[in-house]
Order: sequence, then structure tokens, then C-alpha cells
Amino acid sequence: MSVPDKFEVLLNDPHLAPELKAVAQKVLRSERITFDEGVLLYEKGELGYLGVLANHIRERKHGDKTYFNRNFHIEPTNLCVYDCKFCSYSRLIKERSEGWEYTMDDMLRMVTNYDNEPVTEVHIVGGVLPQYDMQFYMELFSRIKAHRPELHVKALTPVEYHYIFKKAKVDYATGMRMMKEAGLESMPGGGAEIFHEEIRDQIAKDKCNAEQWLQIHEEWHKLGARSNATMLYGHIEQYWHRVDHMERLRELQDRTGGFQTFIPLKFRNKDNQMSNVPEVSVIEDLRNYAIARIYLDNFDHIKAYWAMISRNTAQLSLNFGVDDIDGTLDDTTKIYSMAGAEEQHPGMSTRELVELIKQVGRHPIERDTLYNVITDYNNFEFPEEVKPQFYKLPVIN
Ligand code: SF4
Repeated sequence: MSVPDKFEVLLNDPHLAPELKAVAQKVLRSERITFDEGVLLYEKGELGYLGVLANHIRERKHGDKTYFNRNFHIEPTNLCVYDCKFCSYSRLIKERSEGWEYTMDDMLRMVTNYDNEPVTEVHIVGGVLPQYDMQFYMELFSRIKAHRPELHVKALTPVEYHYIFKKAKVDYATGMRMMKEAGLESMPGGGAEIFHEEIRDQIAKDKCNAEQWLQIHEEWHKLGARSNATMLYGHIEQYWHRVDHMERLRELQDRTGGFQTFIPLKFRNKDNQMSNVPEVSVIEDLRNYAIARIYLDNFDHIKAYWAMISRNTAQLSLNFGVDDIDGTLDDTTKIYSMAGAEEQHPGMSTRELVELIKQVGRHPIERDTLYNVITDYNNFEFPEEVKPQFYKLPVIN
């Protein structure tokens, strides 16, 4: 096995701790790292070292390919029966005046607004309220599919599913099967936060717990369907809680293979009940992406939401294990901006996303939700932009 140059430098560095060299050797041999080694990377791995390991894995899996999709979000409501301490988004019932509650017709209108746009996915996620029950969502999914069959419906998390199934008195397996029959095609990764109850009980008490979150994904995977997973990091958790979180995902993925993408979500502290908790640095964001890439050897993709971490950090993340920077968004989500993200009106044209990726020497690929290639933009020429027409005004002498 020839050793890549950057690894050679690491392995010959007299200052690098032997245990970190051992992890680098494992990565070179494509071996899985242990729980303790995951904690070690968080405690002792410097950014440059982690970048070499994570980028090696990223390029082994995908080369320079960097994925994005053309999507829009529907957020049915920002009112919620739960009270997660980190949530900047939910307006509790008592603050109802600041909230929105879209009707079925409102949401179908949002879908028809994109009728002539080449979007491939609608991403539906929001707060939890009693009127948005199983019947409501089944009708919504089936009406979207009836209107536009090729639009991929990626919707709701185990937080909503646990709530609506309990209310309807159906078990998870039955519930997920009914959702699939209604038109659900993928599940996004939200609601995972930090699995360990020591932290979960403090920040997201009452909503579905770790076991329930994992069980719902497992039932979904058993139907042959795919989903994503997230982790909310950088608040009151310790490093080992992050590793514990990823360990539970890795274990489920070994059994089902149903996860596509892991998405670390940075805790933002604007307008929530944890505003006293400082946010972590960009360095920590990049270290976290890198460790996720190293730890989750059985996940194909690591995604950074550019709308949450800024365009510049998204570009940097492509050297730290990330191979997907999500979608065009078109200013259809409020989740990041309300939490204090730099992007207050997130939206990028396809051309801007492609340029963002090319600027850092990567290879842009527009994908659909299941990572089928829609357009390879490596040698793609965008048509000349239509120049504004100028008309001669009559000159009055
Ligand atoms: S994070 Fe989700 S479940 Fe928790 S309060 Fe906010 S909207 Fe509700």
C-alpha cells in the first residue's frame, strides 16, 4: 500500500502522539475506529491532523464530487406542543400571535408555486400540533404526489411520527407503512439532538427518546426506504456524548444500511432558552465534521447545511469530510435564520451553488434525494444570461 504524502508527514511527525498515529494507520487500512478512539480524536486531534484523515476518507468514497439538490421547504407550523430548550423556532401556544399554522390548501399552493421549476424534492418539517395528525399528513402526501408524481416527498421526523402514531393508536411499523402508502419517500434526519438521556432530558424532554427515534428509523428502513440522521452539537454535551450518539447510529446502520447521510447541526444561541450557552468556534465545527467522517465509516455521505454555517464555512468543510452541501432552499426555511444563522434569507441559484463548489476545486453534482445524478456540472457551461433589452427613447430636439 502506498502511503499518501500527507499521511507520510503525519506518521513521521515526532510530536504526534502514538495513539493518534495508530488511528491514522487504521484510517489508512480502512479499519473502523473504536468508541475510545472517537473520544480521543475529540480530545486530542488537532484540526490539521483530523483534516488529513477525514479528507482521505471523503476522497476515497467520492473523489472531489460534491453534491447538492434543488429543493424547497414547507414548514407547516412553528407552534409546538414541546418545549426544547435549544429551539429558537417554536412559538409556544402562549406566543401564538408570532406563529403560523398553514392549512392543507396553503401547503398545496406552495407546491404548485414550483410547478414550472426544476426542483426535485419537497422537504416538510416543522412544529408539532394536534391538528396535524396522521390523516392530515397522509392526505397532504397523497395530494402532493397526485399533483406532481416525480417530486420526492421527504417529510417529518420521529418527533412528529411518534406523536401522531400515539394519538392514532398505531404501532410504528404500521404507521410507517401507512405513510409510505400515502406517498412518503424519505425521512429527514431531525429530532435526534443528542441521544444520551443525561443531555436529552435537559434539552428536549418529553419528545421521543433515543430508542423511539432509532426504532422509527429502523421500521422505515425495513420497508426498503432511506433516511438521514443529525446530531445537535456544541451546547452542554461532552465529547463522549457525541461519540455515544454516533455509535448508536453506526450500530443501527450496520443492521439496516438505511441511512444515507449524517448531518451535524451546530447549536445556535439566538432567541432560545439556552442563549447563555456560548456557540462553538468554526474550528470546532470543522473538527466535528472530520470526526463524524472518520467515525461513521458505514455512512456514505456527510452533509453541511450551508444556510446554517455560512457559505465560507461550507466551502472549508469540503476539506474536512463533507461531500454534500444541501440545496438551493429558495428562502423557504426559517429554522436556521431564527436560530441566528448568518444567512437570514437563505437561497442560492444553481449557478451560485456550482460556483461555490468550484471555487474550492471540487466537482459539483446536482443529485436527487437518493443521490442519483441529475446534472454533472464539472464541464457544464451555463447559458449566457439574458441581457436586459434597451430601447431607444425618442429624442425630442
Ligand atoms: S425542536 Fe422541534 S419539537 Fe422541539 S420545540 Fe422546536 S419545533 Fe418543537
